[in-house]
Amino acid sequence: MEKIKSFQVDHTKFGVGMYISRIDGDIATYDLRMVKPNGGVYLSSPSMHTIEHLLATYVRNSRFGANIVYAGPMGCRTGFYLLVRGMEHEDAISLARDALKFISQYNDKIPGQSEEECGNYLEHDLESARRDVLPLLERLENYTVKMLDYNV
Ligand code: ZN
Repeated sequence: MEKIKSFQVDHTKFGVGMYISRIDGDIATYDLRMVKPNGGVYLSSPSMHTIEHLLATYVRNSRFGANIVYAGPMGCRTGFYLLVRGMEHEDAISLARDALKFISQYNDKIPGQSEEECGNYLEHDLESARRDVLPLLERLENYTVKMLDYNV
């Protein structure tokens, strides 16, 4: 089988940031890298789980809710995928920034955290989630569309 596009990116060449993983028609897949790949420090599963619930809730309730295809965790635990349809890159950066800010300040019941709504509702960690989004949030200050390119 052929090597898929996301495995063709040299993971030693980038750090925390937001990048375009691929474009399929009008759907853009962004990588939200929250820690450096192979940096020895990874997001914990409970933290990622909480970020996932809050990220998905935020983006789907935003003014771009109808443009959201999917938001979910990377198996390598270095970040998240954000798939959108028909959105400008500038707006996707703003949306990611707003979502991370929302998560960093969130101090309420985690949405969807019940046995009926979630597959592992006890495995959450809001405190870590709030802290883990900070490096990327800081990185996205003054972020430009050009910086979305993995090859820059
Ligand atoms: Zn869940």
